[in-house]
Amino acid sequence: MANTLLKVKGLKVSYGGIKAVKGVDLEVKEGELISLIGSNGAGKTTTMKAITGSLGMEDGDVEYLGQSIRGKGAWDLVKQGLAMVPEGRGVFTRMTITENLQMGAYVRSDKAGIAQDIERMFGIFPRLKERKDQLAGTMSGGEQQMLAMARALMSQPKVLLLDEPSMGLSPIMVDKIFEVVRDVSAQGVTILLVEQNASRALQIADRGYVMDSGEIIMSGDAKQMLTDPKVRAAYLGE
Ligand code: ATP
Repeated sequence: MANTLLKVKGLKVSYGGIKAVKGVDLEVKEGELISLIGSNGAGKTTTMKAITGSLGMEDGDVEYLGQSIRGKGAWDLVKQGLAMVPEGRGVFTRMTITENLQMGAYVRSDKAGIAQDIERMFGIFPRLKERKDQLAGTMSGGEQQMLAMARALMSQPKVLLLDEPSMGLSPIMVDKIFEVVRDVSAQGVTILLVEQNASRALQIADRGYVMDSGEIIMSGDAKQMLTDPKVRAAYLGE
């Protein structure tokens, strides 16, 4: 049995009086690619933010590598291998591609390894190599998404959290992003993917969770979910 890397237990998060997450349980095991799907406002992003400690929990807990993340700072978690690519990407727009990648390695001190990994990222994302001295803010949305993923990978994560990586991208870029997510997973990085593109997300995942109004309403094998009539009707537009 693979180790559980991430365990969310009875998680509740509110914004003032609004209960956004109402007791979520989910688990991510080593090597898995998990997709968390659900409609607008279901609470997916809120769940992701609580997992990385950037939003406080009202109740419940998040365990990473068997320990509660409560009281741990973002730096501690990244250092321990939990990296997140936020919705909207958040690249450093006034830095070049290469500088962004170097920033991604801020928890590391192995200079030679960092230089090697930058080259490795250029191998995975040739577009970034072509533009390595360009300011990130002048890149297209899809290119910025690739940069954000590459930057997160520079921290050598065990678990990568991706919040809607395909949002707002052209169909070709969407294809490329899903291809890269699958490749990164195949290289051994454990992934929790939040997506509104439920069909694509389930196609590449091992398991899936469906979130609705702050709760997990369904979970299971991703391929089975793809053929489930209820999932198809509610989330795959059929
Ligand atoms: P989307 O796919 O649209 O990003 P989501 O599933 O990620 O949706 P969340 O962003 O987690 O959903 O939002 C869950 C609920 O919490 C929504 O009702 C939203 O309006 C509310 N919410 C999110 N952020 C805040 C905030 N900062 N203040 C108040 N309410 C918020």
